[in-house]
Amino acid sequence: MKIEELKRGDGIRTMMFDCPGCGFLHQVHVAGTGVPVWGWNGSMERPTFTPSLLVTGVQQMTDEEHAAYMRGEGLPTPRPLTCHSFVTDGRIQFLGDCTHALAGQTVNLPEIEA
Ligand SMILES: [Zn+2]
Repeated sequence: MKIEELKRGDGIRTMMFDCPGCGFLHQVHVAGTGVPVWGWNGSMERPTFTPSLLVTGVQQMTDEEHAAYMRGEGLPTPRPLTCHSFVTDGRIQFLGDCTHALAGQTVNLPEIEA
C-alpha cells in the first residue's frame, strides 16, 4: 500500500502517505465536512489526489543545529518548509517551489507500513 487511512471517529476520512521529500507523513482529507476535501480515486496502491497538495511549516533542525542547541547556543532561525506536489497513479510530482531536495522531480510513493 502507498497510503494508509488515519483512524479517527469524527466522520472525516483522512489518508496518509510517507512523503519522500519531507521524510514524514502527509495527511489528505478525502471526505468530511468543515475541512478541505481532495478528490481521491479510491486506490490504496496507485492513489491519485486532486488538486495539488501544499504542505507548509517549519523545517526540522539539522543535527548540527540540534548539537549547537544542546551546547546552549540557542535555537536556530526557523526556515520555512514548503512541499507542493501532485499525487497521481501512485507517483508524486514535486513542484519547483518545494524546499526539499526532490523539488522538480517525480518519484514513486514509498510503501507505507500499516
Ligand atoms: Zn512533503
